Amino acid sequence: MPEGHTIHRHARLQRRHLVGKRVAAWSPQGRFADGAARLDGGTVRDIRAVGKHLFYEWGTSDGTATGELLHIHLGLFGKFRTFVDEPPAPTEGTRLALRTIEGEDAAGTTIYLAGATVVDIVSPPEEEAIRGRLGPDPLDRKADPSRFVAAMRRRRLPIGEALLDQKAISGIGNVYRAEMLFRAGLDPDTPAADLTEDQVMGLWDDAVTLLRLGEKSGRIVTVEPADVGRRSRGRLPRDEQRYVYKRHDRPCHRCGTPIVMWTPRSRTIWGCPTCQGLARA
Ligand SMILES: [Zn+2]
Repeated sequence: MPEGHTIHRHARLQRRHLVGKRVAAWSPQGRFADGAARLDGGTVRDIRAVGKHLFYEWGTSDGTATGELLHIHLGLFGKFRTFVDEPPAPTEGTRLALRTIEGEDAAGTTIYLAGATVVDIVSPPEEEAIRGRLGPDPLDRKADPSRFVAAMRRRRLPIGEALLDQKAISGIGNVYRAEMLFRAGLDPDTPAADLTEDQVMGLWDDAVTLLRLGEKSGRIVTVEPADVGRRSRGRLPRDEQRYVYKRHDRPCHRCGTPIVMWTPRSRTIWGCPTCQGLARA
C-alpha cells in the first residue's frame, strides 16, 4: 500500500509535468467518464498532497480557477503510470487518463491511473473537510505535532494501532509504523497513552526524518547504514533496508535475535523481542 511519502512524491513529480499546462482528460475504463469530461481541456493550477490524499486544483483553459478539484486516494492498489513520450494504450482498468496538450511537435506527458479507491471531483470546502478529518502530516512543514501528541495521550489502544489512525497522524502505513517502533525501541502493544510526551515527540520526529527520506528516494529504507556495516543508505541489499517489516525469523540487525510477527486486529506487525522488549515474546 502506498504510504504518505509515495503520495507526496507523486505530487512533486506530477507538478513538474502538469502545473500550468492544459490537459486532456478521459476515462478509458468509463467509470469516471462524466468527471473526466468536466476536467477535459482545463488547466492544472496546483497539486497538493496531504496524508494519502491528492488534490489537483483545476482551472479553465485560460487558467482561471473553476472551484473544482480532482481528488484521488490510491487505497491499497491504486497506481499511476507516467509516460513522457508516446504512451502505450491504457489498460482496461485505467479509470483516468491525463495528457498535457502541447504544440504540434511534442507528444506531451501522459498519466494513467488505475485501481484507486477514490477518484472524484470536490469543491474547496470539501477539500477542507477532508483535511480537517486528518491528523498532522509529517511531510507538511507547517504541521502541528501537538495535535498528534494530544491524540496519543487520549488513546488506550496499542501504539502500533494508533499510528495507523489517519485522524491522529496522516501518511503512516504498515511499513513505517513497524520500523518507527523498532527505531524507538517501543513494544507496539504498549497503550498509546502510556508513552511519555518525549516518546511521542520522538516518534513524530522520526516520522519526519523517515518520510522525507522516502519522499526523496521513492523507497522505504529505515536502517541506519552503520547497523549493517555500511557507509551509506544507497544500494543496500533488500534484507538490509529495513529492521523488522517482513523480516520474521531473520536475525535483528542490531542484536541478532530472530524477528517475530503477529497480527493484532487485521494488520500484521513485526518486531524484535530484545530491542523492543516485547511483552508477548
Ligand atoms: Zn534486536
